[in-house]
Amino acid sequence: MPRKYHTGSRNTWMEAWWSRMRQKNPNVVFKSKYTMKHTDGGYQFTFFCAYCDFCCKTGWIRAESSEEARLLAENEARMEFNGCHSCGKWVCNDHYDMQAMMCVECASEK
Ligand SMILES: [Zn+2]
Ligand SMILES: [Zn+2]
Repeated sequence: MPRKYHTGSRNTWMEAWWSRMRQKNPNVVFKSKYTMKHTDGGYQFTFFCAYCDFCCKTGWIRAESSEEARLLAENEARMEFNGCHSCGKWVCNDHYDMQAMMCVECASEK
């Protein structure tokens, strides 16, 4: 089944966006909220918005270690999220201030 977040243009746009975010604040450590399932078939992750129930489930990922799997999963799932360059939280569109490029919580503090 094709996954909607693997379609070309948005993917490229989001890649550029995340790297711009890193340039804006090179020290930011993006912290994703996730759960992990591990079976013989591999690893499966579900990522959540830091503030609500919005989530994105990845496909099954085969990797040597859970750490490697997590990196691959993050790569896949981050296209569905926005990173706050201030606190590093992953949030959905509803909890993100596009203008400030920060999560709503950080944006309201500034
Ligand atoms: Zn949210
Ligand atoms: Zn924030």
